[in-house]
Amino acid sequence: MRVLLVEDDNRIAGPLEEGLARFGFTVERVSTGAAALSAAPSDLVLLDLGLPDMDGIDVCRQLRTVSAVPVIMLTARSGESDRIVGLELGADDYLAKPFSLRELIARIRAVIRRAQAAPVPATTATTPPSLGSGTGAQQLGPLRIDRRTRHVHMNGQPVALSPKEFDLLALLAEDPGAVCSRQQIIDTVWDPNFFGPTKTLDVHVAAVRRKLGDPATIETIRRVGFRLTLTGTTPSADSQAVA
Ligand code: CA
Repeated sequence: MRVLLVEDDNRIAGPLEEGLARFGFTVERVSTGAAALSAAPSDLVLLDLGLPDMDGIDVCRQLRTVSAVPVIMLTARSGESDRIVGLELGADDYLAKPFSLRELIARIRAVIRRAQAAPVPATTATTPPSLGSGTGAQQLGPLRIDRRTRHVHMNGQPVALSPKEFDLLALLAEDPGAVCSRQQIIDTVWDPNFFGPTKTLDVHVAAVRRKLGDPATIETIRRVGFRLTLTGTTPSADSQAVA
C-alpha cells in the first residue's frame, strides 16, 4: 500500500512516516502542493491543508480532476467550514491535528475499505485486520472487546475503561500474545509527537490490569513492552472464514 504524504512540517512528517512504515505502508513524502500533483500515483493521499506554495484545498481540487485516489486531509484548523469544504471537494475524510497514529491508521483503513467496497462484492472482499472500526466483538478467553461500541466485558461483567485505556487494550488485543513495544504503544495510543513522561504508559497499564481484575492478563516484558497473555478463542476470522 503506497501512501503519498503531503506535509511541509518535518516535526509531523518525520514521525508520521516512521509510524506508517511500522504499519506496513510504503510512504512517499513531499512537502509542497506542486510536488504532490506531480508525484507518482499512490493508493492513498494524506494531504496537509497548510502548504508553503498552495492551499491544500486547491491541491485536492486539482487532484480530483485527474484521479479518484482516496484523500484524507490533515489540518491544524478544526473549523467546521474547512471540513465541509474539504469533503465537498472530494476529500474522503478529514483529521484535525493533533491526532494519534492509531486514529489515522483506523481512518486510512476505513477509507481504503470504502474505496475497495464499491467494485468488489462484500462477500468475496478480503477482510483487512480490524483496527478501531471493525465490526463484531473479539473474544479472548474471558475477555470480550467490541471495537464498534468500545465496550469491554470480563467474565460477562462490563469493564469501564477510559478512552486511552480502551485504546491500549484494543491495541494489545490486535495480536494476542505478541509483544507490543513501549514506543509502538505510545505512538499508537497517544501521538507520534508524544513527548510526555513514559510513566504515563505504566499508569494506564496498571489501571487496565486492575479493572480487568487479573494482573496476569497483561505481561510486562522488561525494557521492551507489554503483551496480552489471553488468547483463548482465535480472533483471526480471516483464517477461519475463508473456505
Ligand atoms: Ca503545514
